Amino acid sequence: MAATLIRNGTVVTARETVKADVLIEGEAIKEVRPGIPAASGDKVLDATGMWVIPGGIDAHTHLDMPFGGTTSADDFETGTRAAAFGGTTSIVDFAIQARGTRMRDALDTWLKKAEGRACIDYGLHMIVTDLGASGLEDMDELVDEGVASFKLFMAYPNVLMVDDATIFKALSRTARNGALICMHAENGSVIDVMIARALAEGKTAPVYHALTRPPLAEAEAVHRAIAMAEIAGTPVYIVHLSSEDALNQVREARDRGVPAFAETCPQYLLLSIEELERPNFEGAKYVFTPPLRPKHHLPKLWDGLKHDHLQVVSTDHCPFCFADQKILGKDDFTKIPNGGPGIENRLQLMYHYGVNAGNFSLNRFVELTSTTPARIFGMYPKKGEIAPGSDADLVIWDPASVYTISSKTHHMRVDYSMFEGYEVRGNARTVFSRGEVIVDGGEFHGKPGRGNYLKRAARGGAWK
Ligand SMILES: [Zn+2]
Repeated sequence: MAATLIRNGTVVTARETVKADVLIEGEAIKEVRPGIPAASGDKVLDATGMWVIPGGIDAHTHLDMPFGGTTSADDFETGTRAAAFGGTTSIVDFAIQARGTRMRDALDTWLKKAEGRACIDYGLHMIVTDLGASGLEDMDELVDEGVASFKLFMAYPNVLMVDDATIFKALSRTARNGALICMHAENGSVIDVMIARALAEGKTAPVYHALTRPPLAEAEAVHRAIAMAEIAGTPVYIVHLSSEDALNQVREARDRGVPAFAETCPQYLLLSIEELERPNFEGAKYVFTPPLRPKHHLPKLWDGLKHDHLQVVSTDHCPFCFADQKILGKDDFTKIPNGGPGIENRLQLMYHYGVNAGNFSLNRFVELTSTTPARIFGMYPKKGEIAPGSDADLVIWDPASVYTISSKTHHMRVDYSMFEGYEVRGNARTVFSRGEVIVDGGEFHGKPGRGNYLKRAARGGAWK
């Protein structure tokens, strides 16, 4: 069988950093140890001076997603291609159950969006908007289909928000079927009143998006979500945690031994509310939910990553073009499509501002961006690991490569970058997905449609 040998690199996993060669046979890793001899016919790649890391896993993306009369600008082809350039080899996107329909229909719709387009492997969470008569049984059926996680919204009343009874029923169901509930935790009812007040006072600029969604509205919902999970006797995962107040709730619960987990995203670690005050409506580029916070929250989130109060860094990639999509909210911030682009730059930003800046170790970087999401979302050790038998999803990472992030050169199908002009040191050089080189030296070698649907297992790392 055709084999590839990655020689002379340093293998970095969540556990250790070792000088070792990696032998890939077919789609899987065959061997990891120093001094593996090359057989004739093997393709040999030299990784001297490079890190060899597990491919990144982005557990929170929204490709081809309808929102407020428009659709996120990246589909499964352009989005997964951009992900691959940045060293991400698996994503977990979100199917959305439309009210009054079966979850199975949403799963089929989203599988169709990905089929023939995805360049890397993809799983799907299910967003539950309506339990209806058979919703709890539907959840069990979806777990059998590899949908091992469900997302519920405590925000966006009349659109996505579900009440506490629904949340508690869903949580209780997962206590039995082993799925994981992911919570969008913000108090949507309070926020809606604040939004109505702001609009009545003529406050329509982008910054009011942030000012009407205060950190306490997030912290209250995080507290409530964790309390309901605790009563139901099941783990819970808070998505895109953005504030110190919310983080305190997670930390307090974890300190008591409650299985509460949370992710944050590069934008909450690196950007603050001032971005929404940019002139010429450019603040709209930074309108997403939860919103950016005042600067003093940022070091607290970094600290949370370091001390495992936060376990995962994902992107919440949900791009809308400035010119023809964000502009829909020019006279009313509530009409600005919520979301920002990030799928391509997650590893670069976390490596530079995490590892290079001394905020956490190289192993922690791998853990936050690959291994823990693989575990929590039921993909480990197939994904997120460098060991015999694991999928050969690997990145040869050049720690010395200097790269300037810009919409002029990025591969996401969106006309701006939230990190325009940021210079980072450390970048993906060669990216393997199941043994195949899909990116090498800034060139794309993958094919749309080569990505596989990932059937994920219930009772992942959140249960251990
Ligand atoms: Zn999201």
